[in-house]
Amino acid sequence: MVKIVESFVEIYPLNSIENIKKHIERCGRTCYKSEDKITDTSAEQFVEGILKSGHESVIEHANLIFKTGSENLEKIKELASKVKGLNYLQFATELLVSGNMRTFRDISRLGYNDFDTWFRQNGLEVFANQDSSALCLVGELSLKGIQYLDKVSQDDDLNNITVHMITNLSCYKDITRHRLASFSIESTRFCNYSKGKYGSELTILKPVNLDEGTPEYAEWLACMQDTEKHYMKMCELGCRADQSRLCLPHSIKADVIMTANVKEWKHIFNLRCDKAAHPDVRKVMLSALELFYNEGYTTFNDLYAKFLPDIEEFRRK
Ligand SMILES: Cc1cc2nc3c(=O)[nH]c(=O)nc-3n(C[C@H](O)[C@H](O)[C@H](O)COP(=O)(O)OP(=O)(O)OC[C@H]3O[C@@H](n4cnc5c(N)ncnc54)[C@H](O)[C@@H]3O)c2cc1C
Repeated sequence: MVKIVESFVEIYPLNSIENIKKHIERCGRTCYKSEDKITDTSAEQFVEGILKSGHESVIEHANLIFKTGSENLEKIKELASKVKGLNYLQFATELLVSGNMRTFRDISRLGYNDFDTWFRQNGLEVFANQDSSALCLVGELSLKGIQYLDKVSQDDDLNNITVHMITNLSCYKDITRHRLASFSIESTRFCNYSKGKYGSELTILKPVNLDEGTPEYAEWLACMQDTEKHYMKMCELGCRADQSRLCLPHSIKADVIMTANVKEWKHIFNLRCDKAAHPDVRKVMLSALELFYNEGYTTFNDLYAKFLPDIEEFRRK
């Protein structure tokens, strides 16, 4: 029998340098469903393994905001044209520069070790990339903030929010069209749902747009049960998870981590909370918007007001 679950959204906060590796481990282990392996000391080794394997998108979930002198503006502009995820904001004498850990590694790959040096000095040497001694910036480089510390006054381009959501594969397909965000998803290549660890069953997201008790819902459920039988049979026949997964439906539950800056979150809410978006996607995005509002991220107040009738409607679904 398939297990039916409902969608769920929570924020994964990141608010200190000490927690960067732990945050990345927490996000990354979603892919392998190995959260049970997290210990007080497991993060360093996990990050090392991720970087070694080339699974670098996981380190995109941690963002830092640096402060440097405005004389570096031209250099930062040049870097921003060469790497992804580098944003900056210019003030009279200072320049704020934000990026995720992957952005900074890519800067290092260009041969510059300004950020690597800072990582080595701050217990984050695991992210340092190479021994190049070339600096691209002049003057001071110091940390201004992490992810989204100040919920009220900070800038939309520089600040990022990470969310963990339980949704389905079709919702994941839709939201990953948002190219400026970063994603990690439970791997259906890695997770073999015939194993006891997964309850030897398929976990399916309850659809928002089919009403329980109707013939349409019963037909959908029958299809899910059949699909489970075929999946389990393929595993019995000796198929690996990456073969059996070819049976999996759009409704299969997906554990997803999503990180985006505030500007992109606003863009996504405008598109995906709207009536034109798929109801499963609307459900998680309206929940995320409500959560941001409830957490005191005041920059989302206008959007919350705009979508409040929809939030109230979807709370009941
Ligand atoms: C109601 C709805 C129906 C949809 N139906 C379909 C469908 O039938 N088929 C389908 O394939 N897709 C569909 N989509 C997906 C849609 O076309 C977009 O791919 C998705 O919404 C991502 O949003 P975005 O393009 O604004 O980009 P994001 O990736 O969120 O980027 C944000 C902004 O950055 C800029 N940007 C990012 N990358 C580029 C780039 N490479 N070049 C120029 N500017 C860029 C743009 O200004 C963009 O608005 C649908 C989306 C919605 C909301």
